[in-house]
Amino acid sequence: MKTELITPCGMNCRICIAFFGYTMNGKKRKMKCIGCKPSDKSCAHLKKYCKKLTKKEVEYCYQCSDFPCKQLQKLDNKYRERFDMSMIDNLRYIKENGMEKFLQKQEEKYKCPECGGVICVHNNKCYSCIIIIKW
Ligand code: SF4
Ligand code: SF4
Ligand SMILES: [Zn+2]
Repeated sequence: MKTELITPCGMNCRICIAFFGYTMNGKKRKMKCIGCKPSDKSCAHLKKYCKKLTKKEVEYCYQCSDFPCKQLQKLDNKYRERFDMSMIDNLRYIKENGMEKFLQKQEEKYKCPECGGVICVHNNKCYSCIIIIKW
């Protein structure tokens, strides 16, 4: 878990299926995604809607006066429903407790009980030992 893999919108790229090198329907991608920040694309999810992010006026959405804006809420709702994860909660946690604690919590939450690898948030799979975790 690394700070540079936490996106402005509160996603952790380390647990994203694209980071593991797959698409949402399970096919191998031609290229793995290396994350929003390392690829210098600011936020892949919200960038097209938000000038503050494209212009890098805020590093994380919680620094924005409109936080949480409608687009972020829409994304957050989708992730709550489908993936049991909340960008808004992530960002609030980072704001209140700092990045280090957040990364520790992510490490615990997404750790494979079999091999200690990282579990993907999108399909609950550990790509290190290929087991699917039932929460
Ligand atoms: S697709 Fe988006 S969230 Fe996933 S690793 Fe790439 S930049 Fe991060
Ligand atoms: S919370 Fe602010 S910075 Fe983040 S996407 Fe919404 S308007 Fe942009
Ligand atoms: Zn594993």
